[in-house]
Amino acid sequence: MHEVLVIGGGPAGLTAGMFARMRKMSVLVVDAGHLGGQLVSLYGDKPVHDWPGYFDIVAGELAATLVRHARELGVDLVDQTKVLDLQRQDDGSWQVVTQHQATREERTFPAQSVIIAIGGGAFEPRRLKLAGEERLGDDQLTYRMVDPSKVAGPDGVVGGGGDSGLESAQTAHEAGARVALVQVLERLTGMESNIEKVEAMGIPVHLQSRVRELEFDGDRLRAVVCAQKGREAPLRLPCDHLVVNIGNAVNLEAVKRWGVHVEGNLIPVDSQMRTNLEGVFACGDIITHEGKYKLLLTASKEGAVAANSAYVHVRKPSRVTMGDLYS
Ligand SMILES: Cc1cc2nc3c(=O)[nH]c(=O)nc-3n(C[C@H](O)[C@H](O)[C@H](O)COP(=O)(O)OP(=O)(O)OC[C@H]3O[C@@H](n4cnc5c(N)ncnc54)[C@H](O)[C@@H]3O)c2cc1C
Repeated sequence: MHEVLVIGGGPAGLTAGMFARMRKMSVLVVDAGHLGGQLVSLYGDKPVHDWPGYFDIVAGELAATLVRHARELGVDLVDQTKVLDLQRQDDGSWQVVTQHQATREERTFPAQSVIIAIGGGAFEPRRLKLAGEERLGDDQLTYRMVDPSKVAGPDGVVGGGGDSGLESAQTAHEAGARVALVQVLERLTGMESNIEKVEAMGIPVHLQSRVRELEFDGDRLRAVVCAQKGREAPLRLPCDHLVVNIGNAVNLEAVKRWGVHVEGNLIPVDSQMRTNLEGVFACGDIITHEGKYKLLLTASKEGAVAANSAYVHVRKPSRVTMGDLYS
């Protein structure tokens, strides 16, 4: 039996695993996809500028460093394995039921405490759901951050005015595409630094506009047609490569079935990362508390706190000090 089982191997879960090991606890991290979380699954090629100690580091490299760090500290790591169920035992421990994503084989891991670090949960990019989408390969339509090697032709359109959309627009521009940005709201919602970069690049921004239709030339995407608030005539933008970064749809039904209290699409926690279930903690993008930010740094910080709380729950030390972690 592991003393701690962490569900989710993103920045929060990996840091929780590392801190559990620094307390010399046995710990298993189980991830439904690739270890590294959103760093690899959503924006592997993007530079990260706000991880202390690095002016910039490519997200995929940062993920690999986190995984290597966890492995070297002795964290047991399992990928491609989704947690399906969490069952409380009479002695207060937990049975964690998992399924391998490829083989469908089910396995149950016993654990004395559990840390939920599932980020957006079993989340999927929010889709446009337009006629003809299914005909387009990822060289013509992507819901991930743009991959510069796949920018298919001269004309790119990016849907979404948050940081992901702004950064995709910059990358496509740098890859040589003529880019237009389409945003549903009346303003861009990303960070000021990202908005400034898009403005400096001269990328045209169409606010209060929504992609409504795809125009084809045979099998190739030729243009997107947008409805614009307050205007009769639709806006037609030539487009060989459409990038859609309009957020993710979250599904937390499984987490609710486990008995974990959920508010909206988030798990409320206290300052110790405790959930409503004794011995079950949560950290990272999936949690909510006053002053919560969805960032790599805060996810890792919360992972460290959750690991310490699991330590207190399992080992019941008479005194908890941080000093013993420094040796
Ligand atoms: C496009 C984009 C760019 C970003 N850029 C930055 C940036 O530059 N700087 C910054 O600070 N933040 C950035 N962020 C935010 C940052 O990536 C997140 O805050 C961070 O990844 C949250 O970490 P996490 O560990 O909580 O979740 P995640 O990274 O989402 O990891 C959760 C993991 O849990 C796994 N999982 C889910 N359900 C299950 C299950 N049932 N069983 C097993 N495993 C499961 C998933 O497979 C996933 O690997 C960005 C986010 C996006 C979308």
